[in-house]
Amino acid sequence: MEIARLGIVGAGTMGSGIAANAVAHGIEVRLFDIDDAAIERAGRFVRGFLARQAEKGRMSGGEAEAAAARLRAVRRLEDLAAVDLVIEAVFEDFALKAELFERLSPLLGEETLIATNTSCLRVTDLQRHVRVPGRFLGLHYFSPAQVNPVVEVVSGAHTDERALERALGFLARTGKLALRCRDARGFAINRFFCPYTNEAARALDEGLGSTGEIDAVAREVFGAAAGPFFVMNIIKPRINLHAIRNLEPLGPFYAPAAAMIEHGEADHPFAIDEPGEIPPARRAAIADRLRLGCFLPVLEALDEEVAEPEVFDLGAREALKFRNPPCALMDDLGREEVARILRPALERYGIAPPRALARVGRLSAGS
Ligand code: NAD
Repeated sequence: MEIARLGIVGAGTMGSGIAANAVAHGIEVRLFDIDDAAIERAGRFVRGFLARQAEKGRMSGGEAEAAAARLRAVRRLEDLAAVDLVIEAVFEDFALKAELFERLSPLLGEETLIATNTSCLRVTDLQRHVRVPGRFLGLHYFSPAQVNPVVEVVSGAHTDERALERALGFLARTGKLALRCRDARGFAINRFFCPYTNEAARALDEGLGSTGEIDAVAREVFGAAAGPFFVMNIIKPRINLHAIRNLEPLGPFYAPAAAMIEHGEADHPFAIDEPGEIPPARRAAIADRLRLGCFLPVLEALDEEVAEPEVFDLGAREALKFRNPPCALMDDLGREEVARILRPALERYGIAPPRALARVGRLSAGS
């Protein structure tokens, strides 16, 4: 039951990237969108990606042509009937996705898997809208999906083991690193990435540093290629605000910062200054806040058994390009120092210390 034919619904940013990755790995793709212009853009995008892969010597010209020929645009949902897996990547809207699954799932074979690429909705809630819930799961790709190696694999309450194994086989075949996590808000990676960007915005609100200073300290502390403001500008402040609002029910620590709301609602990029020498006290205060933004959500998520510690670290390394991922960093700093970093937020927001604090020192050893 290998997956050789993929259907994709939604030919936007994610659908295009997923299509490019799949055809480059020998998968036949049928791409559907209600918007013809999106389908055309996706076709151009996939051909452009493959041409660049050939220019860089990652595949031959002939291979790039063969891969491009594996992409077929389809005009009706019925045209997806013969595929082995459908990945849904339409707008992030529950009613839209639910209605799509209700129309799509009766058209598919009993064995066909359906996956949602949702970032913020519950997989189990969407699962209620398909004909065979056991064959439904979450495959959360990261942008840019044609190159970012990470996919979070999320089982809903009714996903069966065989469906999961087939999905894992597909991800291995398409060169992806599968990170299994629970159907929890933000899954594993956005659970800490969003609060990390939010603490950066809070640090800005509170005058701890400028955007350029905060980005510089983040690059140094996490060994990251880019800081939170730079990354938020790429993701788009509107999308980042939506993602942090998805976490807000977890408590006041996750409520969006004023700067996040302001830039998100206006979808206005952050102006990033060129920082000079950052005084040590200022640097230390910024570093504490950024570490807090990562550490507290990871420890809380460990208490909730969202994922194993190595999932947070692999996600940080591979999806976010942090050379110093959160669990390894916490182990290096030690329990006392992590407790010190957490303390002001625990007091300010009235949060009990996470139980996983007791595991600091042994987190990256997998215990
Ligand atoms: P997008 O706006 O770029 O593309 C969405 C596409 O869906 C559009 O082309 C639209 O025409 C199409 N569409 C809407 N309704 C449709 C329908 N009923 N049938 C067929 N096509 C329809 O969106 P995106 O950024 O690619 O996001 C898609 C999904 O992936 C969302 O659930 C989003 O949360 C998730 N996601 C996005 C990112 C990201 O960084 N952009 C990362 C991970 C997951």
